[in-house]
Amino acid sequence: MSEDKKLPDKGQMVMNFIKAVAKHVADGMRKLTLDQYVERLNVCNTCDLRSGNRCTHPDCGCYLDKKAWWASEECPLKKWCIITYSELNLDKKKEASNGSN
Ligand code: SF4
Repeated sequence: MSEDKKLPDKGQMVMNFIKAVAKHVADGMRKLTLDQYVERLNVCNTCDLRSGNRCTHPDCGCYLDKKAWWASEECPLKKWCIITYSELNLDKKKEASNGSN
């Protein structure tokens, strides 16, 4: 974890978190499949704005292990995006069929 990476100020982080929760609730609190979640975190692992478990972008500051689960969330730099209903349902069907083999 690099010391020169600064999180947004606390007031901004609270606002960002409230917006994220509101979007998540409005979205029906949908969560990703495990594969989709890992895919998002793999992108964050290569990002200069990652600092430990946090995204240090001024529009974020979130805990990545939480943010990455929520379908309604997206990377502030658009390195990964919101997962639509059809994308989520398609991947859940794939997971279910893989599990039944
Ligand atoms: S959410 Fe985006 S900006 Fe933040 S650490 Fe992940 S890839 Fe980087």
